[in-house]
Amino acid sequence: MANERTLAIIKPDAMEKGIIGDIVQRMEEHNLKVIGGKMLKLTKERAEGFYAVHKGKPFFNDLAKFMSSGPCFVLCLEGEGAIIRWREVMGATNPEEAAEGTLRADFGTDIQCNAVHGSDSAETARFEVSYFFEPHELVQYEWM
Ligand code: ADP
Ligand code: MG
Repeated sequence: MANERTLAIIKPDAMEKGIIGDIVQRMEEHNLKVIGGKMLKLTKERAEGFYAVHKGKPFFNDLAKFMSSGPCFVLCLEGEGAIIRWREVMGATNPEEAAEGTLRADFGTDIQCNAVHGSDSAETARFEVSYFFEPHELVQYEWM
């Protein structure tokens, strides 16, 4: 599998629970290397731009409100097959349907407040990483 980059977000509901450390631990346990990270308080407009693909869906407005309601910790992850791997570590969108041991099963509240975000394809990952990070904010280094 190719070395990939993907975008992860620790969403406001998880920030409120004080579980940045638990979530980053899961990333590291699954060989997902953090190569960029920043704390942001999104405006509603910036959240809408990020989720533009969902514009027109019934949950779009509430989603943008939720994502701008508190801090988000945004990370760029790198690793072999990082995009699908991070999706697997997160679990299904709805925490009620998420497999046991996934982040959303363990920490999600409901289908909206589901703790974490992850890019869903190579194309999406490129857009999402560049939405929050300048190239110089991503740092290459060796580990393990
Ligand atoms: P995922 O985050 O798993 O890729 P989607 O891209 O479909 O899921 O949706 C983006 C985000 O919008 C979800 O993570 C969740 O926060 C919210 N969302 C998705 N579907 C619903 C829904 N039916 N009702 C409320 N919020 C939703
Ligand atoms: Mg998605």
